[in-house]
Amino acid sequence: MATVNIRRDVTDPFYRYKMEKLQSKIEGKGNGIKSVIVNLPSVANSLARPPIYVVKYFGFELGAQTNTGDHDRWIINGAHEATKLQELLDGFITKFVLCKECQNPETDLSISKDQNIIRNCKACGQRTKVDPRLKLSGYILKNPPQKDKKEKKDKKEKKKAKANGEENKEGSNSEEEAGKNGNGHVVPTSNLDQYNAEAGSDDEFTRVINDAAKDISAGDGADAFTIDTSEKAMKERQKNELTSAVEKLTMGGNDEDEEEDGGNGPYDQFAAWFDEQAKELGGVAKVDDIEIYKKLSELGLDRKHKTLQVLAQTLFDENVAKQIGPRAGLLKKLVASDRHEKAFMGGIERLVGKQYPKLISTMPNILLPIYDKEIISEDAILKWGSKANKRYVDTATSKKVKAASEPFLTWLQEADEDDSDEEEEDDE
Ligand SMILES: [Zn+2]
Repeated sequence: MATVNIRRDVTDPFYRYKMEKLQSKIEGKGNGIKSVIVNLPSVANSLARPPIYVVKYFGFELGAQTNTGDHDRWIINGAHEATKLQELLDGFITKFVLCKECQNPETDLSISKDQNIIRNCKACGQRTKVDPRLKLSGYILKNPPQKDKKEKKDKKEKKKAKANGEENKEGSNSEEEAGKNGNGHVVPTSNLDQYNAEAGSDDEFTRVINDAAKDISAGDGADAFTIDTSEKAMKERQKNELTSAVEKLTMGGNDEDEEEDGGNGPYDQFAAWFDEQAKELGGVAKVDDIEIYKKLSELGLDRKHKTLQVLAQTLFDENVAKQIGPRAGLLKKLVASDRHEKAFMGGIERLVGKQYPKLISTMPNILLPIYDKEIISEDAILKWGSKANKRYVDTATSKKVKAASEPFLTWLQEADEDDSDEEEEDDE
């Protein structure tokens, strides 16, 4: 299904936040003519708002009656073309979704004690007020969004469902399924789920090798990576709890399996900072290695092994296969032990398995630069691939990722054997 950037003024095709284009269907005749917004639940879900808020907004803007969405049929009286509704939706997004401070759409709504509607931004942590004079504001005050606790519970249940092997459904965008998620339940991470990655599904291994050749000729800046590591260490952790700006860090993981490095505070701060940079600069690939390194040092994360997992999940998006090579210098500087290697591979596994499941079939393309640029040793890659484990994703997903990696792993082993054959010959 066609998608558009949630902020349509952003033309960057790599903009992370996408939603389906609104689809409307005009039904009936004369006085009974009405517009059914076919995919409202999915769109609302991408915006992490209940569909009812969106349809009410349309109703207020158009001065038209709306229905309440029985059986997930969302209807506005009168004939309204999808393009017109899409324009109105821009207004809804500006007024009720985007953080007023940083324009990021990852916000949720809450009602303050003095009856103001507040957008809580997960990217920058700002709390900004919604204009109380808007008609929809009145409606929201009377029909407040569900509480965070409920959201978390929903997410946990979703995770459990996934762990039970239903992850295949994720990413399919049938109306039915979107409806279930979108029926009043606010699932803030969903826009990441729905990110419409056009994965190059060609997993022929010969092609991997060709791509590698291109990468190699592009050269790598590993040696050029030098930096003064004695950057001022601002290790003090901010009290203001960033609600995991980049929910990707926690999504899909096993909560009980938290790392021992003292919670998520500084990692979340890093992720929030990185998101902000990526947004300003127009893509994750544009954030400078040196700046990343400085930030990690500042937060006291430059030596932690978990940092490698976090980087694997934040530095890359659906173009991960092409993005790894250019980050080799930075990553190699940070990988200091086999625990670091393991964490990086785990982060990649989670990135692909949970955030971009469409990329699972392209695992060989992703592993190649990791190996080729010597970010992770051959042994560590083989060890990672040798069995599924539930540390970073659920076991079913881990199995899938590793099965998809098989052609590469086999090649790696065979290449190894070939090498030793040659050596033997040389010895003779
Ligand atoms: Zn913000």
